Amino acid sequence: AVRVLDLCKSFGSDRGDSEPVLSDISFSVEKGELVSLLGQSGCGKSTLLNMIGGFEKQDSGQIVMAGQPAARPNRKCVMLFQHYGLLPWRTVLKNVELGLEDSGLDASRRRQRARDYLRLVGLDDKQDHFPRELSGGMQQRVALARALALEPEIILMDEPFAALDTFTRYYLQDELLRIRKQTKMTIILVTHDIDEAVYLSDRILIMSANPGRLDKEIRIQAARPRDRGDGEFQHYRK
Ligand code: ATP
Ligand code: MG
Repeated sequence: AVRVLDLCKSFGSDRGDSEPVLSDISFSVEKGELVSLLGQSGCGKSTLLNMIGGFEKQDSGQIVMAGQPAARPNRKCVMLFQHYGLLPWRTVLKNVELGLEDSGLDASRRRQRARDYLRLVGLDDKQDHFPRELSGGMQQRVALARALALEPEIILMDEPFAALDTFTRYYLQDELLRIRKQTKMTIILVTHDIDEAVYLSDRILIMSANPGRLDKEIRIQAARPRDRGDGEFQHYRK
């Protein structure tokens, strides 16, 4: 579903020179796969994800998404940011509906679709609330519903749960696994949380820094490590 070939990127500095940020990045992600890009702060994860999403231009190399070069706008691919980016003066329902504005659906279908996806993330009872009336975790679920409602083939997530406490983070990680089973989307997830990557991913691509390169690829087997404590912690994850 996504192919990245020999991607390079430098940013110019104030001193007039230019620093390589990403060097010769190549990988592919198959349809339905969840692949994490894992690496320390500053190694270029967001830059790479932004280029895949078409928000930033590479210096050289190729990105092909669902058969087409990465570019904006792209209906097949949506991005979920660490900070939810909800409109504060709009209700939860309206926020999700507005995300569908360019979808070609008529107003009543947009409303129905927004309701369906709010139900999927367990927020049907909050649809008439404003974002500030919701906890951070709930706001991130709204952002997730808004992204999912577009029914993209590919969803790009940049540290979507990093700002949340462990309880909420665990809960949303489980929710993501559940939703993923239902929708079969392709997901590229950027994180610096090793446990999160191991828990969620089919495959992990580990990046090193200066310049960012792919260091290692790890395939995760079916058993998920957190299952070890599951009996004890299940109760707290709701
Ligand atoms: P974090 O985990 O902290 O989010 P990251 O892996 O996402 O880090 P990036 O944000 O991709 O890292 O940044 C990689 C490098 O590129 C950093 O050294 C950063 O300073 C530099 N960089 C990113 N964006 C720009 C920009 N617009 N202009 C100049 N330098 C930039
Ligand atoms: Mg980042």
